[in-house]
Amino acid sequence: MKIIVCVKQVPDTSGKVSVKPDGTLDRASMDTITNPDDLNAVEAALSLKDRLGAEVIVISMGPPPAEGMLRELMARGADRAVLVSAREFGGSDTYATSQILAAAIKKIGLEKEDIILCGRQAIDGDTAQVGPQIAEKLGLPQVSYAADIEKEGDTLTVRRMLEDGYMMIRVKTPCLITCIKELNEPRYMNVKGIFDCYAKPFEIFDYEMLKDDPLIDLGTIGLKGSPTNIFRSFTPMGKSGGRMLSGDEKACAVSWRRYCRPGI
Ligand SMILES: Cc1cc2nc3c(=O)[nH]c(=O)nc-3n(C[C@H](O)[C@H](O)[C@H](O)COP(=O)(O)OP(=O)(O)OC[C@H]3O[C@@H](n4cnc5c(N)ncnc54)[C@H](O)[C@@H]3O)c2cc1C
Repeated sequence: MKIIVCVKQVPDTSGKVSVKPDGTLDRASMDTITNPDDLNAVEAALSLKDRLGAEVIVISMGPPPAEGMLRELMARGADRAVLVSAREFGGSDTYATSQILAAAIKKIGLEKEDIILCGRQAIDGDTAQVGPQIAEKLGLPQVSYAADIEKEGDTLTVRRMLEDGYMMIRVKTPCLITCIKELNEPRYMNVKGIFDCYAKPFEIFDYEMLKDDPLIDLGTIGLKGSPTNIFRSFTPMGKSGGRMLSGDEKACAVSWRRYCRPGI
């Protein structure tokens, strides 16, 4: 069994956020972290591996510095890493990103009992679109918001989180699951893991290796081709504290409302 985990390197938004003139984030000038939900996806893969045996492959589409993140995830226990990186892929929106990742996963190969794990969403784009789009492109069943994953043979039983409860879903492999933070507590790397991670297989998939895959529509990838472009990124103005109204003021505000438009 292979478990392929999609991980995104994201800006550490607790630090300084800077934006380039074209509206995209200036990632090179910002500290980066592994997207938090993706750490839960990696932990889910490692605990399935501990219980059932599996090869855990971490894959990321990003600039060359994302290698550091992938090595760290191999130090946590992943067996192999693939970095999908090319100038032609830069500035891709979710539609483009999922095409390219789907083609890369196809190149790694998917067999009957294999699983793809993604985080629910990335803390920068925040769209939660890439996971479901990859499943769509590969023609796989998908379950999102996994709070628990059990595997028996070629069937997964997933506890899917809802706003007011859970759904229990059975799904056949190969399939794609998106993971939430309630799923687990990610493990840390250990000294042995840090030594071993440099001996583990690390591959780069570039434009030449993926461009002929029919899953990729070359006209819709990268900053130029992507159907969605970020028009402008900015930090919204903070709201002022507001003022607590006293008794009389409250009465007056309510009557004003009633006066202005019925039912507001
Ligand atoms: C502020 C901002 C707003 C944006 N708004 C949009 C928008 O409205 N529409 C749009 O199409 N694009 C948008 N983008 C671009 C978008 O961020 C990228 O396309 C990105 O690669 C994927 O979308 P996401 O960050 O929303 O990821 P999500 O869809 O939220 O990510 C879900 C999961 O998919 C996997 N994943 C996502 N990206 C990668 C990757 N590069 N490598 C490996 N795994 C990955 C991870 O497991 C992740 O947890 C925006 C980017 C920024 C910075």
